[in-house]
Amino acid sequence: MTINIKDISEKDRNAVLHPFTQLKDFATGKLGEPTIVETGKGIRIQDAHGNQFIDGFAGLYCVNVGYGRTEVAEAISRQAYRLAYYHSYAAHTSDELAILSDRLVKMAPGKMSKVFYGMSGSDANETQAKLVWYYNNLRGKPNKKKIISRERGYHGCSVVSGSMTGMSFYHDNMDLPLPQIVHTGVPHHYWGATPGETEREFSARRAVELDQLIERLGPDNVGAFIGEPVLGTGGITPPPEGYWEAIQKVLKKHDVLLIADEVITGFGRTGSMFGSQHYGIEPDLITIAKGLTSAYFPLSAAIVGEKVYEVLEDGADKVGAFSHGYTYSGHPIGAAAANAVLDIVEKEDLPGNAREVGAFFQAQLKEKFAQLPIVGEVRGVGLMAAIEFVADRDNRKRFDPTLKIGARMSKAARERGLIARAMPHGDILGFAPPLVTTKAEVEEIVGIAESAVRFVMDELT
Ligand code: PLP
Repeated sequence: MTINIKDISEKDRNAVLHPFTQLKDFATGKLGEPTIVETGKGIRIQDAHGNQFIDGFAGLYCVNVGYGRTEVAEAISRQAYRLAYYHSYAAHTSDELAILSDRLVKMAPGKMSKVFYGMSGSDANETQAKLVWYYNNLRGKPNKKKIISRERGYHGCSVVSGSMTGMSFYHDNMDLPLPQIVHTGVPHHYWGATPGETEREFSARRAVELDQLIERLGPDNVGAFIGEPVLGTGGITPPPEGYWEAIQKVLKKHDVLLIADEVITGFGRTGSMFGSQHYGIEPDLITIAKGLTSAYFPLSAAIVGEKVYEVLEDGADKVGAFSHGYTYSGHPIGAAAANAVLDIVEKEDLPGNAREVGAFFQAQLKEKFAQLPIVGEVRGVGLMAAIEFVADRDNRKRFDPTLKIGARMSKAARERGLIARAMPHGDILGFAPPLVTTKAEVEEIVGIAESAVRFVMDELT
């Protein structure tokens, strides 16, 4: 299909309100033309001008099985022909939905019981908050409602999930965060540790701070803690050694539920099927989206652990029906897409590939970048990684933000055919390629990234 690029660009500029886009710069053309992404195959996408890019970020860390997987497209098409839609209210279901849910309960870490479906990570975290509140109402603890998340955590953009997100530019002028959501310190050793403090000591300090925060708020007022096993949008930051172990002790002590936000880490990205398994996390509730369908269809879920579900079921005689749901909860096409994607994840052992190719990727990044004078830290796990740039390595000083080093790195990479994301908090170049990426493709990614970083570094001297 040939498209009229000028016509599409004009229509887009006139009518699309783009997320995370400077609206005036886009409207006046300062940002240039919209990129019309037309096709994708494997780890590459192609725009309407025929330019190819390696997608080093799998869309938004989501196209884990890669682009152009006909198995998934066919499963979606089959289901659309058979039954495009029916709701899941009042005990209606589809075969794909029941099979998917059974599969998720069995594969998820911890003692999981039921799966509630939405369409995005944000709405799934919105559901998690309501589950925490509902659970505590039903068990006679009506004040146990505050939810603690971390600074630089990312949990979405809707009202509750946007409040959980711990970066102020997601709150400013949006009247967030809500008072029920409280933030605690970010688990990033590089920026947060005091001189000489080991990772374990730093983790222990973060746990003491959490303990003190819960004491200050009153344990009877704190319902849950939410965290990504690996901090994602806040900078692709694996937890410091001993972090989750120390945090979970505090949560248990105060009877505070743990929500593992596995929207990025679910289905293999860290090298384990779930980030919780990778870091010994035993969640009460799990949020999944992105990798669940590899973004072939919008589908998310809140997986509910036995402990929470039992209270919900016990309370049902008193409160009646569970009054929460979306028109598209458990959409049969989404379920069919997820089953086809999970077949690929399992058959091709994508967690194993993320572990093996990921180890090669991490080693390559360290080798090529860690010693550069403008690099403060190279970090990551599995197939997610970040290079953080600093003005002064010895004194850990950031660049002047007006230099926009992260954005320039990302632009230079893109001009060389690689999409790597300028992460929003600091001068950070982020990578999260599809989980089907090979070692040869890693070499290509790292080679282009090196050329881009050296180009910007030369501009600075
Ligand atoms: N949670 C995490 C960890 C995420 O990374 C994201 C999105 O990047 C979300 C939640 C929100 O998901 P969505 O953008 O689908 O609402």
